[in-house]
Amino acid sequence: MSKILVIADQKDNKIKKSTFEVLSEAKKLADASGSSLEAVILGEAIAQEAKVLAHYGVSKIYTVENSMFKNYLNRPFIDGLKKVIDASSPKLVMVPTSESVKDYLPGLVGATNACGIMDCSAVSLDGGKVQIERPLMAAKAVSKMESSDDLVILSIRSGSFDAVEADTSLSCDIESVDLGTVDIKAVFKELISAQSDRVSLDDANVVIACGRGVKDKSGFELVEKLADVFGAAVGSTRALVENGIAEPSLQVGQTGKVVSPDLYIAVGISGAVQHTAGMSNSKVIVAINKDEEAPIFSLSDYGLVGDLFDIVPKLTEAVKELKAN
Ligand SMILES: Cc1cc2nc3c(=O)[nH]c(=O)nc-3n(C[C@H](O)[C@H](O)[C@H](O)COP(=O)(O)OP(=O)(O)OC[C@H]3O[C@@H](n4cnc5c(N)ncnc54)[C@H](O)[C@@H]3O)c2cc1C
Repeated sequence: MSKILVIADQKDNKIKKSTFEVLSEAKKLADASGSSLEAVILGEAIAQEAKVLAHYGVSKIYTVENSMFKNYLNRPFIDGLKKVIDASSPKLVMVPTSESVKDYLPGLVGATNACGIMDCSAVSLDGGKVQIERPLMAAKAVSKMESSDDLVILSIRSGSFDAVEADTSLSCDIESVDLGTVDIKAVFKELISAQSDRVSLDDANVVIACGRGVKDKSGFELVEKLADVFGAAVGSTRALVENGIAEPSLQVGQTGKVVSPDLYIAVGISGAVQHTAGMSNSKVIVAINKDEEAPIFSLSDYGLVGDLFDIVPKLTEAVKELKAN
């Protein structure tokens, strides 16, 4: 193994937590295999933020800055990353899974003639071979795969690895790569998205998620109050999204977001596999449910059996009091 390249993910010029998870694992793999570790970040004005990548043991950082990265389009990402992959010539490329990565990765794999595998949860290196594990069918099964291709590009499922502490004494070379002219086939028109001042699900340390048990909008707001005292993100099951109580962007699960916070509190959620596929990597799981047989309890570290309309306000007051003292 010669070189590992990590593609950093960022939003609003801030590197996402999932990047540090992938970098930490990539560094372990690089050290164990005697490979070097490099990173690339693309953005509108990302040079300053890019320096943070060095704190995870990267020996070189590539930056690709262009106003085209302000609003996501796949072509500039594919072109920019192909240029960096050609310059860096890695054996293995790792990138945290995200909506945009799901969109551009097949194009990048085609453009670089690589072996591409999406949404991996474990990676190991054996000589020239890259071995991976990949959860399937709402994480009920795991597929093991191996590639000895010259270039292997993997997207990594959020929460699969722990991020190590950043070592701020570390620094490295930063090379700016020119994106050049991009043959754009589609233009950005408008982004229509839910607006919220709340912490985003992707980066939250605490997620409080509601299920059908909250019944209606006022039950949902009760849980939002609990989230406020925690400074947490609010998540939801698909049941609440389908009946219009929660925004689609809050859905956690197989067809929603995959999250891995330090604390996940599931309120009035039964624990269907399609939901747990999106949260089972959370560090500590607490469930509040009136049915002691609810499957979510088998996954939980702590369970509160009872009526959420009784428990949630009490918990909110208790956390408020604790924070005040
Ligand atoms: C292809 C496919 C993809 C899917 N993708 C997703 C996905 O991404 N995410 C997702 O979440 N779901 C997904 N689903 C739906 C999933 O199968 C479940 O239907 C859904 O997760 C159930 O949501 P729930 O737990 O809120 O509701 P329910 O299963 O109805 O559970 C409600 C729970 O609330 C409890 N409860 C009720 N009242 C109270 C109370 N007063 N106090 C305390 N507890 C109470 C009940 O005991 C129950 O356990 C998908 C389904 C399919 C077929």
